[in-house]
Amino acid sequence: EYEWSKDVKRTLENVFKLKSFRPQQLSAINSTLSGQHTIVVMPTGAGKSLCYQLPALVQPGITIVISPLVSLMEDQVRSLTNKNILAKLMTSTSPKEETQAALNLLKDKDTPIKLLYVTPERLAKSKRFMANLQKCHAEGRLQRIAIDEVHCCSQWGHDFRPDYKFLGILSNMFPNVPILGLTATATSHVLTDVQKILNIPGCLVIKSTFNRPNLFYKIVEKPTSQEDCLNILEKLLKYRYKESTGIIYTNSIKDSEEISGGLRKRGLKVGCYHANMEADARSKVHMKWHEKQYQAIVATVAFGMGIDKPDVRFVIHHTISKSMENYYQESGRAGRDGLRAECVTLYRMQDVFKVSTMVFSSVGSLDHLYGMVKYCITGNMCRRKLIAEHFNEDWGSDDCNKMCDVCCNPNSNTREITLEAHCRTL
Ligand code: ADP
Ligand code: MG
Ligand code: ZN
Repeated sequence: EYEWSKDVKRTLENVFKLKSFRPQQLSAINSTLSGQHTIVVMPTGAGKSLCYQLPALVQPGITIVISPLVSLMEDQVRSLTNKNILAKLMTSTSPKEETQAALNLLKDKDTPIKLLYVTPERLAKSKRFMANLQKCHAEGRLQRIAIDEVHCCSQWGHDFRPDYKFLGILSNMFPNVPILGLTATATSHVLTDVQKILNIPGCLVIKSTFNRPNLFYKIVEKPTSQEDCLNILEKLLKYRYKESTGIIYTNSIKDSEEISGGLRKRGLKVGCYHANMEADARSKVHMKWHEKQYQAIVATVAFGMGIDKPDVRFVIHHTISKSMENYYQESGRAGRDGLRAECVTLYRMQDVFKVSTMVFSSVGSLDHLYGMVKYCITGNMCRRKLIAEHFNEDWGSDDCNKMCDVCCNPNSNTREITLEAHCRTL
């Protein structure tokens, strides 16, 4: 029980209209409210935003939120505004008047604004913004600094952003202002690096489990020809996933068009989704899928943001992801309702080379790809155990409950099990 506990609970129910906290949300909130630097590690979709949005309302002053993606910030500001929470967004492309207004609110002692979202470039490149922020701090009105997707400051993360490096000065510049970093990247390597870069050595790391007990994981050997791949996907959709909806991830626009076209020829109702399509066409496909007019969406990873369909029953990877982090996030769109869902990956050696040529540009990317390959080619170890190891977790030895292909068939080389068998056995 803390002095703020009643307020926290009241805000959760009355403002956010939520009944209870998800695992670790309250610990994170208490930690940051006590003034402690904190890093929160939770899987995508677990509810990291609440960990800074709620504290912003129970203590006086302004919360600065730094986030790498303008579209995500726009979504958040919109949803906060709908809850009657005063939040503003400032990017380097905001119109002049808007920027001026946002700058003024940092100076204004009586501003009702609780959260100000800014891009890292804004912090890195605008002297005026920093000057105003210092003034705000000097007057004791800078409540906390939240850094979303905080792994972006580490070169070892899978998504390094140079502007994030600059955030290291914040802890010195604003002493006594708690920093709250949030990420879904759990490797200890990255977490240590992040603490070093942000210069917050004694920070508390709060981590919730990455285990998704209702997801069944499986690897299928991928044939060489696209035609044979289509046969596999056709069988899966016609039999095993007959009445369900799901996603098929491909790694190129060309593949997503070929696969969706091929499946349509075979009489299946599927949509295609990639970044080269007009926004209109994309949202139409999304909607049809949402309403179950499409059994599956065949997509590149461009299909990701804003998927809030709880009953996705399968996520099939036609090609491996470029890292386990990516795979976990993409496959994790299955089974949000807590009911059984399946994550199937088609794996073949050639794809490793194909993907490696695409990821070669960033530091450590081949390590990341190797993590994905290891998950696919290890045929004698529980897939969940491999995932747990990757995220530095221990899910206990017998926690799988036969929810992966290896544990289902402990005595055989699972990769030799035919697809027919997979389609028959449930
Ligand atoms: P993350 O940033 O971890 O990926 P978000 O903060 O975007 O996740 O939250 C994902 C979804 O979970 C949102 O729709 C949010 O409203 C919902 N959510 C967060 N916390 C709770 C909770 N305690 N109870 C129910 N839903 C929640
Ligand atoms: Mg988030
Ligand atoms: Zn298992």
